[in-house]
Amino acid sequence: MSQHPARPVRRGQQQRGRLNPFQTLAPSRRTRRPRRVAMLSVHTSPLHQPGTGDAGGMNVYIVELSKRLAALGVEVEVFTRATSSDLPPTVELAPGVLVRHVTAGPYEGLVKEELPAQLCAFTHGVLRTEAGLRPGHYDLVHSHYWLSGQVGWLAADRWGVPLVHTMHTMAKVKNAALAEGDTPEPAARVIGETQVVAAADRLIANTDDEAAELALHYDADPHRLAVVHPGVNLEVFRPAGPRDQGRGSPVDEAAVRAGRTAARARLGLPAEATVLLFAGRIQPLKAPDVLLRAVAVLLERDPSLRERLVVPVVGGPSGSGLARPESLHKLAAQLGICDIVRFHPPVGQPALVDWYRAATALVMPSHSESFGLVALEAQACGTPVVAAAVGGLPVAVQDGRTGFLVDGHDPHDWARVLQRFLDHADLGERLGAAAARRAARFGWGASAEATAEVYTEAMARAGGDPGRGASRLRRASAR
Ligand code: UDP
Repeated sequence: MSQHPARPVRRGQQQRGRLNPFQTLAPSRRTRRPRRVAMLSVHTSPLHQPGTGDAGGMNVYIVELSKRLAALGVEVEVFTRATSSDLPPTVELAPGVLVRHVTAGPYEGLVKEELPAQLCAFTHGVLRTEAGLRPGHYDLVHSHYWLSGQVGWLAADRWGVPLVHTMHTMAKVKNAALAEGDTPEPAARVIGETQVVAAADRLIANTDDEAAELALHYDADPHRLAVVHPGVNLEVFRPAGPRDQGRGSPVDEAAVRAGRTAARARLGLPAEATVLLFAGRIQPLKAPDVLLRAVAVLLERDPSLRERLVVPVVGGPSGSGLARPESLHKLAAQLGICDIVRFHPPVGQPALVDWYRAATALVMPSHSESFGLVALEAQACGTPVVAAAVGGLPVAVQDGRTGFLVDGHDPHDWARVLQRFLDHADLGERLGAAAARRAARFGWGASAEATAEVYTEAMARAGGDPGRGASRLRRASAR
């Protein structure tokens, strides 16, 4: 039985299925948005620096979405596992966005794979927190990644509120596209994910393809699937230059060129070089090795390129890459390109802007991507993207217009595409101006509007179905 039944809301105006993220959705009159959402992020904190370890796109997603939801009048409280004894119980991330640190297991030394053993402790912390607040404090639970989904399943049921879940990545999808020699995700994760999919009132997928994968691999009910594209912070990620007078100003090749020149000067990069950037977590799944191998192919064909090629790798080891953090350095040495590849530890987003602006192209040879936020960020800065045609990358990148999509991971194929930037000096700027215009369509404001509409639907549905909690339990337990 639920402790605090959700306030009754009238049925109606349910918009099942997909949402158009570019459409501004007017709040419905007969249903209401939640006043406050419990956002669950068990394994990684929105306060962590993304780009290494467990912190990446999901952290950015939660920060940006929460801020924009708060601006729409939906308060957010993010529960995350405390990873240091120094952390205060709560931190205000932004007006209307509170981070709550939950003690569950030792502060340090636990890897993500060990967290399933701490889910009871984490859930206990979440339920204890809510029990100390006024009844009905949270109107809805939004969980991120399957570990949080397990907690959300129970919390939503206990509080009698809807559960909205975002997968971010799926074990079955990852395992189907593993890099050679990479470690597969365990069967226990697949079981846990399947339970969460069954328990959730609404599942938010990043793309149509991800929604289809949820239905295909996890038997997700199509009526409970909604597609909401993630966004990019257009205040932070934007081209620079004399023509750039702020948001909404025209982006042209001159602006992109000016931004690049200034950023290269700040980073100490040669003004005339072809700069092929990798940015993000360094792990086999992201395939930075393919970029290095492609560069080696280019150099083999034309050794004179050594004078005018720079390959910065910005980010730190993560996931299965943590087992061999030195492997990319070793590969650079084996390929004889240590003078070209420059490793840099992860940086904050304002500093990352300079790396994007400085690059001729961002290169993303990923084997799998739920979306790939860096593709949007680089484009928003006026930098084209050369990306593997996987996950959300074909949504972010328009092949031939804002960058190039490459099938497969053969370094020769990648070298062929990268060669175009060497052959045509103005190609990066030309595609970059179109890339900035493309990315400008992906503001987080639209993502938050669409997410709030999913919340409204979930609440309308919950209000019209008093047996929902019991049916959620039945659905998930049957898995
Ligand atoms: N990032 C960062 N600093 C870095 C490298 C990456 O802040 O040095 C951020 C980047 O801005 C992006 C996120 O990390 O928002 C990576 O997200 P993406 O979706 O590309 O990959 P994921 O980490 O989710 O696999």
